[in-house]
Amino acid sequence: MRPDSISVIYDEKCRKSLSRYFDIIFNKKLAKFKLLKTFPADFQDMNNAEKWKMHNNLLKDFRDYVEDVDLGKIKPNKIVKSSLLDLKIELAKKILERCMFCMRACSVNRLKGETKYCGCDSNFLVSSMFDHYGEEPELVPSFTVFTMGCTMRCLHCQNWTISQWYEPGNLYELEKLAKQVDIARARGCRNLNMVGGDPTPYLYHWLEVSRKISENIATVWNSNSYYSYPSSQLLAEWADVYLLDFKYGNNDCAIKISDAPNYWEACTRNHLIAKEHGELIIRILVLPRHIECCFRPIVEWIVKNLGKDVRVNVMFQYTPHWRADEVPELRRRLNNDEMEQTVRIAKEVGLENFIT
Ligand code: SF4
Repeated sequence: MRPDSISVIYDEKCRKSLSRYFDIIFNKKLAKFKLLKTFPADFQDMNNAEKWKMHNNLLKDFRDYVEDVDLGKIKPNKIVKSSLLDLKIELAKKILERCMFCMRACSVNRLKGETKYCGCDSNFLVSSMFDHYGEEPELVPSFTVFTMGCTMRCLHCQNWTISQWYEPGNLYELEKLAKQVDIARARGCRNLNMVGGDPTPYLYHWLEVSRKISENIATVWNSNSYYSYPSSQLLAEWADVYLLDFKYGNNDCAIKISDAPNYWEACTRNHLIAKEHGELIIRILVLPRHIECCFRPIVEWIVKNLGKDVRVNVMFQYTPHWRADEVPELRRRLNNDEMEQTVRIAKEVGLENFIT
């Protein structure tokens, strides 16, 4: 084990901001997907609009149920015939017919094999999966699954062979993956880390995988934050931890570097919803010469809207990959001045729970 993955257990700030997550690690509480399986939702014979209405209404009741189970006021129900997790899966499957999992809203029918921006059809295609020891200390060891395709085009992408389909990926059965997750938990992994590319195109598949998992394992939604409002609703009360990138402090930079219009609106909305419905770790990959235009507004927004105690990973490991040389300032790594300036700003705005 990495030593800081042990010492973080005694880090009060981290424990406070991710308290439910730590309880799941130590099996004192149940992962949300396990509780969702026990929460009834009788949605047969309803049309899609009625199902959404029921889903959104049930979220509040489910939160109360989780709280009561967590506090030991009630015992969890037995697994029910038709659950809120089943309802989420049903709604997600419908989205595959006219895809709008991410902000692109391509409207293609992926169930018929159509593809668009992300390149994903209805198959679950995996690049690799392994026990990751390089994530934030609280996540390590993290059973990490890298799926193919992405909803953004970051010119400096370090996973570009995966995100941009320079490799074909391996078709994976969801049942088999769920078994791998169970085995990973049994050997001591703290969580299931869903990443890519970006996991968003596979939201339906991930919900389905969680239905098949037996062990109690925390789910970590590791995303670029560029997912749609419907996706944010399906993630609500399902993801235990949102591990969200906050990439840009304005839309001009998001468009120039990642071809992501309306990134700011999507990203801020999804962070707010994440805070409301789960626990949150924010990743900010600091880019050269994007301190004042991006880093500063990001951390200012975080402190103002999410609080100074939210867990933030300020990442200095930027390295030019893929097509980074197309953007002049991205042709080099960060220099010492930029790193110092970044830490100064983080302290200045009042962030109290950040790591570098
Ligand atoms: S996930 Fe996003 S990019 Fe991919 S098909 Fe759906 S809407 Fe388009």
